[in-house]
Amino acid sequence: MNNTKQLADQVIANTYARNPICLVKGQGVKLWDEDGKEYTDFLAGIAVCILGHAHPAVTQAVSEQAAKLVHVSNLFYTEPQTLLADQLINSCFADRVFFCNSGAEANEAAIKMARKYFSEKGQPDKYRVIAMEKSFHGRTFATMAATGQDAIKKGFEPMMDGFDHVPFNDLEAVEKAITDETCAVLTEPIQAEGGVMVPFPGYLPGLRELCDKKGILLIFDEVQTGMGRTGALFAHQQMGATPDIMTLAKGLANGLPIGAALATEEVASAFTPGAHATTFGGTPLVTAAARAVMITLMDQDLLEMSISVGDYFKNQLLLLKEKFDCVEEVRGMGLLLGLKLNMPGGPIAAKAMEMGYIFNVTQGDVLRFVPPLIITRKDVDGLIETLDKILADCR
Ligand SMILES: *Cc1c(COP(=O)(O)O)cnc(C)c1O
Repeated sequence: MNNTKQLADQVIANTYARNPICLVKGQGVKLWDEDGKEYTDFLAGIAVCILGHAHPAVTQAVSEQAAKLVHVSNLFYTEPQTLLADQLINSCFADRVFFCNSGAEANEAAIKMARKYFSEKGQPDKYRVIAMEKSFHGRTFATMAATGQDAIKKGFEPMMDGFDHVPFNDLEAVEKAITDETCAVLTEPIQAEGGVMVPFPGYLPGLRELCDKKGILLIFDEVQTGMGRTGALFAHQQMGATPDIMTLAKGLANGLPIGAALATEEVASAFTPGAHATTFGGTPLVTAAARAVMITLMDQDLLEMSISVGDYFKNQLLLLKEKFDCVEEVRGMGLLLGLKLNMPGGPIAAKAMEMGYIFNVTQGDVLRFVPPLIITRKDVDGLIETLDKILADCR
């Protein structure tokens, strides 16, 4: 068992800079490594395990469904998938859902849907997507091209054609970039991997207005912001604008692999039989898990509690900013929070992990906190105390 790390370094493709621990068990916001050491989880598998680890509702849904029916392909109707789609569309602007297996695939589906929509309307020359600098949309060829970060593209050129990038949070830049070939504008409501960047309040409504004026589609990548992360079920619902297509993945099934592209009836009508497909998308197993997540989350107490803990958490981070010069800014909404430092964040995260707190770093110098939504003030106090100790050495 203790050889896992050594063996992994020999047999797993070397694409991840691993933390030096092997995790074996989780319960709520706690994780344990193979040596029995306990951690409090402010990462949640990168904004995935929104109900925490081993949540009884998910465990029960998965074990019951696994004993009944795991997979049959999308050549047949299945109940969990249908009921999940119904739950999702009843909670937002959308009328139809395409299920797949990851965030990148959900964005692929969204991009394909936007192109197909205009192709069906007899305008196949409208195919280009405007995306934002510093955005993150995935690692497949299309979503990598859509992503606004050079480091992610390096060595994989040539990039797929059809994406134009403009600075985030700049409506004028979007307006200037729109041409007759533009089919859609794609953005995260809050740039998460990009350093937890919250746009100004008029940004998303401004994008909506621009897209309506130009007759093009608006796509929100809510892969990370969705499922209660920012305090509403979907972040755009707090931000005053509705998209034509929305993508989900991370928090949707609390850790089972799932992605979804949701759209209005008009836009989704571009997807006719044979237009797009995936073998595993929306299996009974993962959709049963996601239904359990939706039901648990729609219990209003949980969202409201997460908002109040998020506010408390943000205030505690602001106190750290007042106290330590190395803290430049506190960013975020709900339980998607970032602490921008004026120095590399990696050593801080490593030290915190040694002290029993797990979180990660984006853009090199932003400590990013995306805990399970069931995190408590007491857990937050523990983290803040730990950060207070670590940052004291950096003053
Ligand atoms: C994580 C993420 C993705 C990619 O999801 P995968 O499941 O890793 O393919 C896309 N968009 C955003 C905003 C993300 O945070």
